[in-house]
Amino acid sequence: MDGLNATAWVQSSVEYRASALQAWRSARLSLPRALKDKKWTAALEQTGKFTKLPPAIIVDIDETVLDNSPGQARFLLEGNGRYDPGTWMKWTAEKRARAVPGSAEFLSEAAAKGVTVFYVTNRSAQEGPDTRDNLKAQSFPWKDQAAGDIGDVLLLSGEKPDWTSDKGTRRAIVARYYRILLLGGDDLNDFFPARLAPAERAAKAAAYEKWWGERWIILPNPMYGSWEDSLLGFDRKLTPAEVQARKLKALRRE
Ligand SMILES: [Mg+2]
Repeated sequence: MDGLNATAWVQSSVEYRASALQAWRSARLSLPRALKDKKWTAALEQTGKFTKLPPAIIVDIDETVLDNSPGQARFLLEGNGRYDPGTWMKWTAEKRARAVPGSAEFLSEAAAKGVTVFYVTNRSAQEGPDTRDNLKAQSFPWKDQAAGDIGDVLLLSGEKPDWTSDKGTRRAIVARYYRILLLGGDDLNDFFPARLAPAERAAKAAAYEKWWGERWIILPNPMYGSWEDSLLGFDRKLTPAEVQARKLKALRRE
């Protein structure tokens, strides 16, 4: 049960809390330079002329700004530890997720400096109103109306036909109207399309190593993520025993 160790770490360790605080502190230190340098962008989707566009930050929601470890705990306590859609939807509908340490403070500070904060999440359109209420209750900045045809600042998966779980199209629409200063996420897909085999992910990320902690702010999430799907060949039908076997096989012994 890998999930037990991971969830216990997130919920009880000072090490998790410190890692999250460190990530958002990096964002805070980077923000003045990002605001000042009009050629600065954090989004690979940002093309064309963008030096005069107003500033924005894009963050993911789950395990980036909202801590869903209680949802993970339910998977462990009420099921076999694996993701269960019904249990998840019930958790998000309760609107009880707490802010990841340091996230609400930093994003509020950025908003006070005129930066628009966008939430690009793979939560479904159905979960939108509860997600908005949860964000507001945790003191995250909010706007009902962003520029152009974006709508509000919460961009959910499937909200528009081309807003697929690949977040690139949503980063692109924000980049049409805003200069994107920072990306915040816990998953490689929060930074660039990463539905790739492990070696390909590593190769693509290697070109942007200097961006971590500067343009790309990453949060620790040992509980789940596309890294695991990648390791398992994107096969969600594997049995727990097969998952275990594949992970053991992938271990490096040198
Ligand atoms: Mg996430």
